[in-house]
Amino acid sequence: MGVVVEKKVENNVLSATQKVIQEAINKLGYRDEMYELLKEPVRMLTVRIPIRMDNGDVKVFTGYRAQHNDAVGPTKGGIRFHPEVTEDEVKALSMWMTLKCGIVNVPYGGGKGGIVCDPRSMSFPEIERLSRGYVRAISQIVGPTKDIPAPDVFTNSQTMAWMMDEYSRIREFDSPGFITGKPVILGGSHGRETATAMGVTICIEEAAKAKEMDLVGAKIIIQGFGNAGGYLAKILTGRGAKIIGISDAYGALYDEAGLDIDYLLDKRDSFGTVTKLFKNTIPNHELLKQECDILVPAAVANQITGENAHEIKANIVVEAANGPTTMEATKILADRGILIVPDVLASSGGVTVSYFEWVQNNIGYYWSEEEVAEKLREKIVSAFNTVIHTASLHKVDTRLAAYMVGIRKTAEASRFRGWV
Ligand code: GLU
Repeated sequence: MGVVVEKKVENNVLSATQKVIQEAINKLGYRDEMYELLKEPVRMLTVRIPIRMDNGDVKVFTGYRAQHNDAVGPTKGGIRFHPEVTEDEVKALSMWMTLKCGIVNVPYGGGKGGIVCDPRSMSFPEIERLSRGYVRAISQIVGPTKDIPAPDVFTNSQTMAWMMDEYSRIREFDSPGFITGKPVILGGSHGRETATAMGVTICIEEAAKAKEMDLVGAKIIIQGFGNAGGYLAKILTGRGAKIIGISDAYGALYDEAGLDIDYLLDKRDSFGTVTKLFKNTIPNHELLKQECDILVPAAVANQITGENAHEIKANIVVEAANGPTTMEATKILADRGILIVPDVLASSGGVTVSYFEWVQNNIGYYWSEEEVAEKLREKIVSAFNTVIHTASLHKVDTRLAAYMVGIRKTAEASRFRGWV
């Protein structure tokens, strides 16, 4: 019984995040009152959204929007549609957005939204009605200078287009800067679709350099084949790496000789599901333990835990998902000399290009794909170096270092504003 309770506590993303934030704040030399301010979002809205389903019944969905801290600027972060969304998870995710924005140095605080729903079993018109209903429900607390949403798990540029349209109708003026991750035709930025994967790729390149590893021929396992994992597999294959394992929610494919990524991308559905088409799959937890050079968890939280961290064979773990490694596992991996590129750094490419999109919306002038790619590289390389430098300077693991870098700006802004 005791073991079960402990496991639950370790896997609670909010309390785990609070612990590291507290440690980071202490290391930076702030007083406890700074932690009191930053341990929870300053604003958390819960909404109930009634939607007429295709069969004529009304279903009421629960949604959330968390705004962690707006001392630096408006809050920013994605909206996820998932059956397992919880209030605590959305709060923790909003705090991670503060960290990401601090790490890549963009002028936002963190925000996050979520709706408890399963878009895999909903029709397109039902998803549209739910997306619009959510915007109506949260419209008072969001906006281009207040809180700017974006895509996250199971939402995409189409979802953003509906949401932007709904918001513009409510406000009665065109508001592209209300939301990022839009289709390019509606004011989206070039490079936003692949931004998370590009950010992860740049981190992989930098981590490989630090470990004196050649990316050409490097064996890589990617857990997850959705937006981030799918594009990542494609980009890395293009760079000469060998993708030997991928997975989705239902299982994993593994082949030491390398997988045919183009074929798998062609066969996958819009939710990243592909393994159902194959018989020779292995379970997700088996995939993580396979021999490889670089492991990229790009799916869901709590995948590398105290239980399996000893069995990870990779030299480098790059976290493309939010929260894939527990704190206990972080310690084990770090002690074993495995380089961890933490989620708040590795997955910050998305919000970086979201920032570029918002800037372009605000000035009404749009950049080329090359300009966006160059600006993204500059931000991620500089963020990577700052985190690694902080880790060695303070003799802490890379996760704590990333939290220290990420929280510093919000803490300073809160202090200058006289909040603490
Ligand atoms: N949902 C993405 C993330 O977790 C992107 C957020 C954004 O672009 O604002 O980083």
